Amino acid sequence: MNQPPYIDIHTHRCAPKAGVECLCVYRLGSGDAEPPAPFVAGVHPWDVAQADFSLLDYFAAPHSGLVGVGEIGLDFAREAVDRSLQVEWLNRQLAVAERLGLPVVVHSVRAYNEMALELKKYSLKAVVFHGFIGSPELINQLSRSGYAFSFGAASLRSPKTREALQAVAPDRLFLESDDDPQADIRALYDTVAALRQVPLPALKENLYANYKRIFNG
Ligand SMILES: [Zn+2]
Repeated sequence: MNQPPYIDIHTHRCAPKAGVECLCVYRLGSGDAEPPAPFVAGVHPWDVAQADFSLLDYFAAPHSGLVGVGEIGLDFAREAVDRSLQVEWLNRQLAVAERLGLPVVVHSVRAYNEMALELKKYSLKAVVFHGFIGSPELINQLSRSGYAFSFGAASLRSPKTREALQAVAPDRLFLESDDDPQADIRALYDTVAALRQVPLPALKENLYANYKRIFNG
């Protein structure tokens, strides 16, 4: 039987790799070109200080290949970016996702409580926390709201996040290379298959099914 491809759920470096499918990120207002399909688009919390709300006009027209709103979010470790402005941008983009019926990919750093409060205001198709770093308790708490989690190489450097990765339910799990030029998503799958004690083909099938369910339906 044919194996499904590796799915890299979040990458800023959309180079083709054998056996790998990517969900690219289009950082609106950053000057980057629109990536190859499929992609998510949004104004990153790091960019909001320079951004104009007219960037949201992007979502007024249809874009083939657009499958979600992201990455959007809150980064309270970035003290240079005003928190209330980040919250305003998050809300406006969550409203877009709700209106278009699109899933969202969120970036959340030192802001999980605030993020959970904002997300609850909207009826969203799905929410994926990308680059997740946090405890199994945090996963449990956020899982109750139906959210999913994507882990990258940086996640694995945190012991409590390795525990969280072992605990997350199979239907809530994704893996990603993000912006790491050294990242090899295939190696990450190997590591995670070992950590979760599942065969690699089962992990690939599991994550590809999650991708199809959330982004491709
Ligand atoms: Zn990213």
